Amino acid sequence: MKITDVRVHMLQSPLAQPFAFSQGWVDRRSATLVEVSTDAGITGWGEAFAQGLEPPQVAAAAIEHALRPLVVGADPLEVEVLWHRMYHQTRDYGRKGAVVAAISAIDIALWDIAGKHYGQPVHRLLGGAFRRSVQPYATGFYRIRGQGEAARLAEEALAHFEAGFRLMKVKLGYGVDDDIAVIRAVARAVEGRGVTLMVDTNHAYGRAEALRLGHVLDEMDMRWYEEPVAPEDVDGYCELRAKLRTPIAGGENEHTLYGFRELLGRHAVDVAQPDIGSCGGITGARHIVALAQAHGIEVNPHVWGSAVAQAASLQLIAALPVTHHSVFAREPVLEYDRSSHPFRRDLVAEPIDLRDGRVQIPQGPGLGIELRADTLQRFRIA
Ligand code: CA
Repeated sequence: MKITDVRVHMLQSPLAQPFAFSQGWVDRRSATLVEVSTDAGITGWGEAFAQGLEPPQVAAAAIEHALRPLVVGADPLEVEVLWHRMYHQTRDYGRKGAVVAAISAIDIALWDIAGKHYGQPVHRLLGGAFRRSVQPYATGFYRIRGQGEAARLAEEALAHFEAGFRLMKVKLGYGVDDDIAVIRAVARAVEGRGVTLMVDTNHAYGRAEALRLGHVLDEMDMRWYEEPVAPEDVDGYCELRAKLRTPIAGGENEHTLYGFRELLGRHAVDVAQPDIGSCGGITGARHIVALAQAHGIEVNPHVWGSAVAQAASLQLIAALPVTHHSVFAREPVLEYDRSSHPFRRDLVAEPIDLRDGRVQIPQGPGLGIELRADTLQRFRIA
């Protein structure tokens, strides 16, 4: 089997209601998808992570100009070989960010092809399923005005509860005083309902403010405190880990096993969060998972992409071993973004939804999804 073409599909849609996370206002949804075709008639799909402020054209250019020539004509089943070829050939201008996101997209598509070729879901090729379903957590609580929205966000928590979520991640990073008002209001709203909270400031603060917020969170039994400081400040991560009781999470802005080496080797996080669409794809995630396992650090993937990234993440999560084994070991959870996404559910024939409060791992070959041509057509940009 040979790769005959690599085609990029950039999708975009404006949001009816723009929202803010701590790094800026998001007024559109974007996705950089890749379609890898073969001479055997098998097609694989992958996705490069495009965060809220990221133009999808950046990873698209890396795929088209840098990576496409490296893989066309190659055997798509040589997934590991092609990962190293793509990484080495882009090392001097890549290693992080959108270039590794571009590698991730092609890598995911190659795993999709391998699964379809062998007639197995990707998690079987990764060694089998530790679980057939996963508990999702609601990511939400974005801002519409910016500050002073504690009452509205407390109501949002109840809406997530009604939708079946028992885990919720509250976006913070809008000023420590405002954050404290919000997290207290949300905690009060769900008190006694069996809900566990997490928070994510998207590295809005330096160490002093991050610690001040952290001391309040320490009173609340959070599952984790995510991206408390900038990803470059590994010393800051270590300091917060040493001074706070709440587990520290991070890693969505780190890439490949080389990038994670410091974060894991210095025990800067309790929970490592590679994003499959930017950490190096399924191959990159696999390297990171092994490294994290060796350091006794839990991996819980970050997920914010379209249905392609969701499905790829589910395949990875199925094959993810628990880090600290026990009869009642803590299982990984699925980040389930509840903010507006005009083309996520419509992108696949069977949307990735909750059933009895859980999300099932797709069991079909490859990623286990079927993309809808009409949706691709509708949201495609030139
Ligand atoms: Ca995050």
